Amino acid sequence: MVVPYKHEPFTDFSVEENRKAMEEAIAQVESDLGKEYPLIIGGERIMTDDKIEVVNPANRKEVIGYVSKTNRNLAEKAHNIADETFEWWRKTDASFRADILFRAAAIVRRRKHEFTAHLIKEGGKPWKEADADTAEAIDFMEFYARQMLRIDGGVEINSRPIENNRFNYIPLGVGVVISPWNFLFAIMCGTTVASMVSGNTVLLKPASVTPIIAYKMMEVLEEAGMPAGVINYVPGSGKEVGDYLVDHPRTRFISFTGSREVGTRIFERAAKVQDGQKWLKRTIIEMGGKDTIVVDNESDLELAADAITYSAFGFSGQKCSACSRVVAHEDVYDELLERVVEKTKNEVKYGDPTDHGSYMGPVIDQGAYDKILGYISKGKEEGRLVHGGKGDNSKGWFIEPTIFADVDPEAVIMQEEIFGPVVAFTKAKSFDEAIEIANNTEYGLTGAVITNNRQHLEQAREDFHVGNLYFNRGCTAAIVGYHPFGGFNMSGTDSKAGGPDYLLHHMQPKTTSEML
Ligand code: NAP
Repeated sequence: MVVPYKHEPFTDFSVEENRKAMEEAIAQVESDLGKEYPLIIGGERIMTDDKIEVVNPANRKEVIGYVSKTNRNLAEKAHNIADETFEWWRKTDASFRADILFRAAAIVRRRKHEFTAHLIKEGGKPWKEADADTAEAIDFMEFYARQMLRIDGGVEINSRPIENNRFNYIPLGVGVVISPWNFLFAIMCGTTVASMVSGNTVLLKPASVTPIIAYKMMEVLEEAGMPAGVINYVPGSGKEVGDYLVDHPRTRFISFTGSREVGTRIFERAAKVQDGQKWLKRTIIEMGGKDTIVVDNESDLELAADAITYSAFGFSGQKCSACSRVVAHEDVYDELLERVVEKTKNEVKYGDPTDHGSYMGPVIDQGAYDKILGYISKGKEEGRLVHGGKGDNSKGWFIEPTIFADVDPEAVIMQEEIFGPVVAFTKAKSFDEAIEIANNTEYGLTGAVITNNRQHLEQAREDFHVGNLYFNRGCTAAIVGYHPFGGFNMSGTDSKAGGPDYLLHHMQPKTTSEML
């Protein structure tokens, strides 16, 4: 009997013992940098000459490691192996597959600080954010293992005295999993293990800036008993092998998390039936956000300022759920803005994320740095800069927490995803207008409403059109099993990661009817 699911607790780093353990883990990871990593295809380690150099975004001279790159021939080899493996893997017991995840979760839990330390280095995550990323990866393994056991019995349908009818979910086939760098462990792990535990085989292509954590997850799954060929680790440039994996006629489904630009490209390409293809490809596509916190005139402004500051600047705003727009009622606008600016000045220290005191670390790479500073320049034309605005890339890619006031809801920085530590404020005359502005983007991922007015909360429940809506709290920090996650409109297919139906996107229902 499996114990009921509970999310993994976060580490309290105000406890000296935990702080020391984390410092030791960081030192251990630092002594292990610069290694070379192979691909893993059918269990075989393959080292290629062409490698991805992975660097620490807080100190770009520090190389985290060199990762072998998949080319088309190797992608084809991996596809063939995944295809062959599927023939027997699909028939394994759900409990066999779930047990691999329970064991893997236990291994990660035992070595939690080591994984967290690695995320600090590879992803530039401050301690708290890295710890939450590791906890979420554990949660995905624990949660999806239990969901698979629940689905396994099938669903009750009607039979008759003359016939016995059954309705079962079966796996789809070979899945291509393409993950982003921002939740380098959690999202990569969740999308991969969901595909695998539901009986599919997988080609895993992690983001090129953060592929090493995926190799480390492969080692854990192997130690937990995952047979060779079930998940094949094929890092490489999305531009070079992405289309090939997506277009392949033997690809049965694609699970992608990343930008709107790449997500829509995959959606289009997957719709084209290739020569020799026998199915319509399934796509699970989760993309960006332009997430709003609405602050009403009857609200706790200290709570609102806390929620905005953390949602905008936690992990330097590099979350799809990050708050990049604030819509405040005109009665409280000035006071709220002042509180957020003060809080940001006093609390949002930025610096090397290996230091426990850093609230914010760097942004991920030069491309992100340039793009965010470009939006900050635009913001200076479109609004009033009230805090931050500068960058420093002399050592790593650091950008100040940045706040703009008095921005028109239609402005570019109010409409496009910036994916950095930038938040823009706009004023509304009424709660109705605030919700109208909040809905006025092409995205629909997360949102929050801060108000003490019950009627306004109920109005938002109906009218604020986002996949994850939060009341009287920030709009980030969804927890697996508690806040199933996914967005509307151009935020994606709303598959709801960490939710009760998630695995079903990776399966197809089959009816069998036997005459008695
Ligand atoms: P990205 O640039 O779209 O990359 C995501 C993945 O797609 C990477 O593995 C990338 O590989 C790959 N890729 C690039 N071009 C490809 C192609 N032509 N075909 C197939 N794959 C290709 O996104 P990102 O910068 O890593 O992540 C940030 C974005 O993810 C933001 O927009 C954020 O909002 C979104 N996100 C959404 C969610 C959600 O749940 N909705 C969660 C997290 C992040 P390379 O690294 O090799 O280019």
